[in-house]
Amino acid sequence: MPDRNRPLTEEEIGQFRKMLTEKREELWREIIQDLKTRVSEEYQDLLNTVKDEEELAQIDLQEEVVLGVIDARKKELEAINQALWRIDHGEFGRCLECNEWIPKKRLEIRPWASYCVKCKEKLEKIGRV
Ligand SMILES: [Zn+2]
Repeated sequence: MPDRNRPLTEEEIGQFRKMLTEKREELWREIIQDLKTRVSEEYQDLLNTVKDEEELAQIDLQEEVVLGVIDARKKELEAINQALWRIDHGEFGRCLECNEWIPKKRLEIRPWASYCVKCKEKLEKIGRV
């Protein structure tokens, strides 16, 4: 059977969930690193404990500093969160535009992909993504 355009197995979805979670953690590590270079010493220890946006919100940092750092990665973080949401709701792996299965090879490179290559190109042309 050709390895494309088929529903993913539970096991594969589990692997993608792991990849997405790890990527998310990696992005947050980068965000925290970035923040550390921009905030004063009193916040350094506090930042060591932060793992996500919710925990970051607990710290009284200057909003514009935080937003500046997060903004650079916001699109990626959102795409990852959305992909994790789709996993939880059993919708992971389908193109949001044409509803076809996204080839596994594409998901292996970009597990947060929301569209198949064809739709992505089409949407890019009309400026929707
Ligand atoms: Zn599509």
